[in-house]
Amino acid sequence: MCRHIAWLGPPRTLDDLILRPEFGLLRQSWAPRRQRHGTMNADGFGAAWYVDGRETPVRFRRAQPMWTDASFASIAPTIDSGCVLAAVRSATVGTAADESCAAPFVDGTSALSHNGALRDWPGDRARFASAVASVPEAAAGVDSALPFGLAATAWRAGVDLAGGLASAVRQLEEGAAGAGRLTLLATDGQAIAGVVVGEPMYVTRRDGGVLVASEPDDDGETWEQIPDRHLITVTRDGDEFTVTIDPLDQPSRTPATTGEPPWPTAR
Ligand code: GLN
Repeated sequence: MCRHIAWLGPPRTLDDLILRPEFGLLRQSWAPRRQRHGTMNADGFGAAWYVDGRETPVRFRRAQPMWTDASFASIAPTIDSGCVLAAVRSATVGTAADESCAAPFVDGTSALSHNGALRDWPGDRARFASAVASVPEAAAGVDSALPFGLAATAWRAGVDLAGGLASAVRQLEEGAAGAGRLTLLATDGQAIAGVVVGEPMYVTRRDGGVLVASEPDDDGETWEQIPDRHLITVTRDGDEFTVTIDPLDQPSRTPATTGEPPWPTAR
């Protein structure tokens, strides 16, 4: 996926989060402003969101460009959620283009999207085939399915959301420094986690919640870039949201509880 967002906050409609922002995912599907690889994101899209009374996410995916899906545009204003992960795709060369390759990928309560490309795919796929065998969507014909499968395997084993992302990156990079661009965004409906490896990601507080995105959807001043090789976690306690950013390679995982802003200001 080439552009993705995750929202944790008061319920917002998919229309508000995805279609309406001036430079949001819909616009980014044909005219991203900060995309460094590929020029547009016309190879499918998807969204996963959580609804009351159900732990697993609802997911909607298509293989077509977001701007051609009038049905999605018609339902988006009627769906609201306090936790949403959505993405538009620019397919990496050599991957398949069907709906199963569009993020978010889902396993149980968790959902993930990937911005980047594995340097050695499908070679890595063979290398990790048995490691991800228990995760059905890890079999999709796209490199992103592999970091997803590794993270989901860790989550199934009880590792927390950010820990699963760190574990996926660690395994892919083991014995292969420069495994590729591996920026990942994930949620389990309660929290958001992301890891920045080779593709930028930004965070802002907005409308009482937190939005994480591969590029700002407006020209507001509040966006902060998450440094490369860092993990971000957004957690919720009632109406309060805590943003924690830690180095990937020496994770202290200490929440930022005081002071502001709650994330590094370095760009
Ligand atoms: N490699 C992933 C895919 O093909 C993500 C692509 C991207 O970030 N442009 O879907």
